Amino acid sequence: MTRISIREVGPRDGLQNENPLPTAAKIELIDALSETGLQRIEAVSFVHPKAIPQMADADEVWSKVHRNAKVRYSSLVPNVRGVQRALEAGFLEIEVVVSASNTHNQKNVNRSTAESLDDIAELIAIAHAANATVEVIIATSFGCPYEGNITPGQVGDIVDRVARDGADRLAFGDTTGMATPTRVIALLEHVRAWHDELPMLLHFHNTRGTALANVWAALPLGITEFDASVGGLGGCPYAPGASGNLATEELVHMLEDCGYDTGVDLRALLEVAEMAQRMVGRKLDSGVLRAGPRLPF
Ligand code: MG
Repeated sequence: MTRISIREVGPRDGLQNENPLPTAAKIELIDALSETGLQRIEAVSFVHPKAIPQMADADEVWSKVHRNAKVRYSSLVPNVRGVQRALEAGFLEIEVVVSASNTHNQKNVNRSTAESLDDIAELIAIAHAANATVEVIIATSFGCPYEGNITPGQVGDIVDRVARDGADRLAFGDTTGMATPTRVIALLEHVRAWHDELPMLLHFHNTRGTALANVWAALPLGITEFDASVGGLGGCPYAPGASGNLATEELVHMLEDCGYDTGVDLRALLEVAEMAQRMVGRKLDSGVLRAGPRLPF
């Protein structure tokens, strides 16, 4: 049975796009997720509190989380200052984002893609000196709301650069839900022809209903790592243009029925999804949370 490694991003990517939760609720959510069999959790991000008030208590959250030795925890950082905070907090897995679309990168972090890539080279060196690893997440890998289509070649150029600079892992982010299965296959075939040495993870949004189809397209190409967010947290209906992450329970439900091993206890995960729904105080956009599994437990 093929083992699939799911990284749960609800506590970070999800909550960053919801109304701020109390610190205690964030800790409770991370701890509950760590008991479902999920083996990777993106716990917090170390960003400036003015930029992202939802993550202002990242240090406190992380210091109070009951760390499960079976779980790999990671944090996202926007820059060199962020990586220093993440290393001080004890993280050994760091993620950093750069957009394939220059316009999106400018709007996101007020820098060109080229400037971000220079920062990332410096950030990787700092992390490696502290024995931490760095995953470079390439946002808008499948399309950009400002620039339209992004070609595999554009993404491939960024992969070339960050591979040279020492990135340990890659992730391709479908930031606004513009990926379709054909585009997923085209990007993977292009990039993997040159860089089969780096682990690659896919991060899909279900904005236009294609997230699970995109996963299904990537599986025969040997991709075994996917991001997902419990309850689909993150697609806040009050923020125009924000788009929903693939719900972890939808991913687990499909993969397990199709003979893949996620290691996740779906029943326990659904309890956490219900908890997340109560915490954010709105109905979450997840078919398996709404309808339950195809057969009752
Ligand atoms: Mg996302």
